[in-house]
Amino acid sequence: MIDLHAHTTASDGSLSPAQLVAHAAEIGLSAVGVTDHDTVDGWEEALAASAGTNVKIVPGVELSTSYPRGRFHLLGYYIRPASPVTATLEKIQVARKNRNGEIFENLRELEMPVEESHVRRISGSKSGQLGRPHFALAMIELGYVQNTQEAFDKYLADGQPAYATKAVLTPQDAIEQIHQSGGVAIWAHPPLNKNFSPDELEAELGRWVDWGLDGIETHYSRYTIEQAAWAEKVRLKFDLLAGGGSDFHGTSKPDVKLGQTQTGAALPDEILQKIKARRDAIRAGKP
Ligand code: AMP
Ligand code: ZN
Ligand code: FE
Ligand code: FE
Repeated sequence: MIDLHAHTTASDGSLSPAQLVAHAAEIGLSAVGVTDHDTVDGWEEALAASAGTNVKIVPGVELSTSYPRGRFHLLGYYIRPASPVTATLEKIQVARKNRNGEIFENLRELEMPVEESHVRRISGSKSGQLGRPHFALAMIELGYVQNTQEAFDKYLADGQPAYATKAVLTPQDAIEQIHQSGGVAIWAHPPLNKNFSPDELEAELGRWVDWGLDGIETHYSRYTIEQAAWAEKVRLKFDLLAGGGSDFHGTSKPDVKLGQTQTGAALPDEILQKIKARRDAIRAGKP
């Protein structure tokens, strides 16, 4: 069994890439996707750690995309290490650092100062990127809030007083860049429970398919059974690949277990075989 969606300390997961691989080996996964937010920095350590284990690393990235219709996560698998996507990721890292500086400033103005070194320590990594979940944990330790949800609801969520935006890709640009980078584009967990009805999301999906989307997560730890059924229905309608996984983050999302999706089970290997076949077709110029 496999899990194609997991985070490490390169973004906001709590396990280092090597620890993630060790955990995957321990629970008997044959492949694990390293899909950090807006960075591929976890790949190298994960690949090195996988040597001598039965775990294959599926190199991926979870891109934050935004355009007037909404903000969505898009997974890119098997993008080349030096490619249009990795060039974009470097720009995104700079935008994130600037954005984080604004959040520190906003929290100071709200008289809830947080030190960067504190957030850095909480991230568990010397160089991984800092995200809002890390800010939330620091705010809990400082006694400003009781829990992560309160930190987001009152301060860090989009539109709240400590929030600051960062420039991001549109979904269309992200799909194009993933293909130009030799990779496969899979829409991560369409936000069925947020501000979209199933019909609106289906119309959204239709646009992404026109832009060349390859697949959609049909398996996801936080899908309800109904949401998973919707994802499978639209996948068939648009003739897309299936994808998915747990979205494991370690202690940052303690209820999510590596290797578990909405059914409690991991994904079958054949899902990965089809993604690899698509990658090969994209690279051969006939997606
Ligand atoms: P960042 O990449 O720093 O903007 O942080 C994004 C992460 O913050 C997401 O992956 C979620 O884990 C978390 N997040 C964003 N919005 C919320 C929210 N409204 N409530 C709880 N967590 C959120
Ligand atoms: Zn995350
Ligand atoms: Fe996501
Ligand atoms: Fe994720």
